[in-house]
Amino acid sequence: MSSVSQQRPQVARVAHMQDQLAAYAARDDNSKGRIYPEPSPQHRSEFQRDRDRVIHCVAFRRLEYKTQVFVNHEGDLFRTRLTHSLEVAQIARSIARALHLNEDLSEAIALSHDLGHTPFGHAGQDALNACMKDYAGFEHNLQSLRVVDELELKYAEFPGLNLTFETREGILKHCSMNNARKLGMIGERFLSKQQPSLEAQLTNLADEVAYNNHDVDDGLRAGMLSVDQLREMTLFNRHYENVVSHYPGLQERRAIHEVVRRMINQLVVDLIETSQGNIDALGPCGIDEIRAHTEPLISFSDATREAHLELKRFLRKTLYRHYRVHRMSAKAKNVVSSLFEAFMQDPGLLPTEHRDEARQQAREQGEPAIARVVADYIAGMTDRYAIAEYERVFDPNCNT
Ligand code: MG
Repeated sequence: MSSVSQQRPQVARVAHMQDQLAAYAARDDNSKGRIYPEPSPQHRSEFQRDRDRVIHCVAFRRLEYKTQVFVNHEGDLFRTRLTHSLEVAQIARSIARALHLNEDLSEAIALSHDLGHTPFGHAGQDALNACMKDYAGFEHNLQSLRVVDELELKYAEFPGLNLTFETREGILKHCSMNNARKLGMIGERFLSKQQPSLEAQLTNLADEVAYNNHDVDDGLRAGMLSVDQLREMTLFNRHYENVVSHYPGLQERRAIHEVVRRMINQLVVDLIETSQGNIDALGPCGIDEIRAHTEPLISFSDATREAHLELKRFLRKTLYRHYRVHRMSAKAKNVVSSLFEAFMQDPGLLPTEHRDEARQQAREQGEPAIARVVADYIAGMTDRYAIAEYERVFDPNCNT
């Protein structure tokens, strides 16, 4: 990899933006660069370019029709992977700016962090992982990296989006030791127990802040959670009592929104203040010290972390295992595993470009490579595409 700073001098505006950054922020001039060296962008930073490439990629557009918790056809107002990713980006940018960290990098990580998700959320991922158990498994986090490194084919000079090391490092939130050994430079930190950039750390927590809060909102909207249940949660109850005492008679939907926005604010403010304290206590001079530190420096205070975890446990037990979510998950698993089995038994059922790829892979590397082609095809599907493909493959009345 080449250092991007050596390729072309930064233009004045980008340099000005970088002057606002803390010494330990990720910057163009301390970037570990791209796999395929490229000239620096003219009027953007390297991380703006990453963000822009993500927004223009096919996998990003597919997020609109991929499940977060509720399958897309269940209602127009529930979060999808796309709106979830936008909320993560908003929260991550706020935190990054307050801490004088690289907002563009956090945004690039936030918008790409879920690109590898299968259709039907975690049910789809679990089903595909089970199908792939004899072929090194399937993990959405690793798949997000695979999408930006290999699967998007848009540029003449290289496969993938050729993103900077820092964006890729942020996408790969976790990784088994076995996979880390295969991934080269991007996997090294898992072997040496190092941390990623602060921008990656904060985006990881922004993801949790986003889904904990929007799942409360969506769960209430769907009637799968009740205000009474949520009032047993410290984080919710504190703000709920405040809102109803200040605004008696406020319409319930407005009150819920007011509570959710206050919960997000509390978590974000706590995260900024606690993290700034952690950073000040260490006094790092550069990003290398951040990476070498044994613990993440971006964190909640103990009390807020506990309240946040309490809510997370509640959502897991009450919402994610609700019988209506579970029924949809069971159907989703059936769609994913049936398609996988059918394509593995007869790769001739795959659409032409995937079939040709599977045949070529089969000649070169055998069955595990076919399984990966099939997994890539299924993982790329939106919810509605997967349901339509299921009908096309299994319904004798469907001949498209
Ligand atoms: Mg996410």
